Amino acid sequence: MPLVPMKDMLIAAKRGRYAVGQFNINGFQWAQAILEAAEEEGAPVIVAASDRLVDYLGGFRTIAAVIREWADALSITVPVALHLDHGRCVERCRQAIDAGFTSVMFDGSHEPIEDNINQTRQVVDYARRYLVSVEGEIGTVGGIEDGLVGGISYADPDECVRLVEEGGIDALAAALGSVHGPYQGRPKLGFDEMRKIARLTGVPLVLHGGSGIPNDQIQKVITYGHAKINVNTECVQAWARAVRQVLNQDDRLYDPQMILTAGKDAVRKKVKEKIRQFRAVRKV
Ligand SMILES: [Zn+2]
Repeated sequence: MPLVPMKDMLIAAKRGRYAVGQFNINGFQWAQAILEAAEEEGAPVIVAASDRLVDYLGGFRTIAAVIREWADALSITVPVALHLDHGRCVERCRQAIDAGFTSVMFDGSHEPIEDNINQTRQVVDYARRYLVSVEGEIGTVGGIEDGLVGGISYADPDECVRLVEEGGIDALAAALGSVHGPYQGRPKLGFDEMRKIARLTGVPLVLHGGSGIPNDQIQKVITYGHAKINVNTECVQAWARAVRQVLNQDDRLYDPQMILTAGKDAVRKKVKEKIRQFRAVRKV
């Protein structure tokens, strides 16, 4: 199946009260792990490349070609969107679209609201021509965002409405207490604000920093309008644990295939676990 935009996936998820997982690639075997997991669970999936890793991964065109070819080689039948995570500027989003990404996030959350809306609108106008979906952001996710370490700042509901209406986005990341990277203690998410923003904007919400959130809070987040949940830290930690373990077990081991396959299998297992938690099994 060719890569698809995420818009329809998210509308169906919101209606069906489940969430589509976004899983970031940190190397090309990650794409294999994520695609295999989604296929095994019969779930739609969003494979993402974080803008800060795009050059490390070989650039937009390399990434798009690899995802397309892996999906083909693995005979993937579930819907797959290829998404740019935290696109840094309008030009980077355009480059991703030109390369064949089917979805982009423009992260103008650190800009004044007028600039955020204007630049998001430019991305949306370009994306529409290619049927590419666009995610925008309001507020600040805690931890590391775009390479910047910052405090949490909650999304303002009026600004959320403006970004949706004037920016024309398909999905909204409204920062409400979530954190990129590990949480210190129990996450404190703004559930009341979440419900209000979901109701006022009407678009599917996106949860960034979806790793390490207790299951009861994940279920609540889905009920309150989130149709997309981004997971990276939990996958990265599972990968590192597995690779460390296989190396520690035998200090004469040097075969990259054996070492990296342990990491890949750990990512696949983690993605399957999150898909089940997000209630997205057999939702295609
Ligand atoms: Zn994020």
